Amino acid sequence: MNIASKPLAQRMTVIGIGLIGGSLARAARAAGLCNEIVGAGRSADHLQRAVDLGVIDRYETDLAKAVAGADLVLLAVPLGAMKAVFEGIKGHLDADAVVTDAGSAKASVVEDAVEVFGALPPNLVPGHPIAGTENSGVEASFAELFQGRRVILTPTERTDERATDVVRKLWEGAGAQVTLMDVRHHDEVLAATSHLPHVLAYTLVDTLARMGERDEIFQYAAGGFRDFTRIASSDPVMWRDICLANHDALLAIVERYQEDLDALAKAIRGSDSERILEIFTRAKQARDRYCNG
Ligand code: NAP
Repeated sequence: MNIASKPLAQRMTVIGIGLIGGSLARAARAAGLCNEIVGAGRSADHLQRAVDLGVIDRYETDLAKAVAGADLVLLAVPLGAMKAVFEGIKGHLDADAVVTDAGSAKASVVEDAVEVFGALPPNLVPGHPIAGTENSGVEASFAELFQGRRVILTPTERTDERATDVVRKLWEGAGAQVTLMDVRHHDEVLAATSHLPHVLAYTLVDTLARMGERDEIFQYAAGGFRDFTRIASSDPVMWRDICLANHDALLAIVERYQEDLDALAKAIRGSDSERILEIFTRAKQARDRYCNG
């Protein structure tokens, strides 16, 4: 972790001290990126736990009080809560405060901000860390979560360059590699690489769970099944929100996948060994190339 010579922020407020917000707070503290970290959220019990764990210095459940005097604000709440959080902080931010978020879809966050503020504020830099686990809450957070991982920022032509630079330094200080991307392109890429796999894992487990012989089926589930379905243990609320927020891009890739699955089913039905082997070989080569270095 890079230890900053001069803090990036005197006070950083993190709204949503769960896996992502808690991990970023831990990483920022470890790297000396800010002098004080204020946490915010709905539950005083959760926030007190974050204080007890040393993740944040103090907390507020009132969003206006939480962001007062902060020079850096991170929104790490589920996508369905972003708009309410923007409403809660509107009119209470310091003039120079830089705001960013960690939401897994970006167009919906930009739309929520435009609805609340009237236009995308120049100091708001939408962002998305491509890092996570299937666990939620502050207890699951750890400072190394972003080490060597990518973070995508999606500033628009309205975004202030200084604000983008501050957010870039925040994530780089947490050990991540920062990439800039267009909002729509981000949502299409993530629909394919993250949102579709989660939808498939949830559907597969749900299909099997509703079968009469489910106890026996799960009893014999081997490593492959566990690997493939690990992400179906992720928080259902968060993933419901992602499906709703990114529905256009997600539906496009789900439909494409359905066509390919139909084509594979047809090959199996017709005992078309050549076609099955062709699909599996192409997939293995692609996975070996991209995932195994
Ligand atoms: P999480 O562990 O469930 O944490 C969410 C936090 O938000 C909780 O601390 C919760 O605390 C707070 N919260 C929920 N609703 C709120 C509301 N209406 N107002 C204020 N605070 C609220 O979730 P997470 O995994 O950190 O995800 C946070 C964000 O990061 C999401 O937008 C997600 O899309 C994104 N993200 C997640 C991952 C991942 O793998 N998990 C990866 C990249 C990006 P209280 O219950 O106390 O309010």
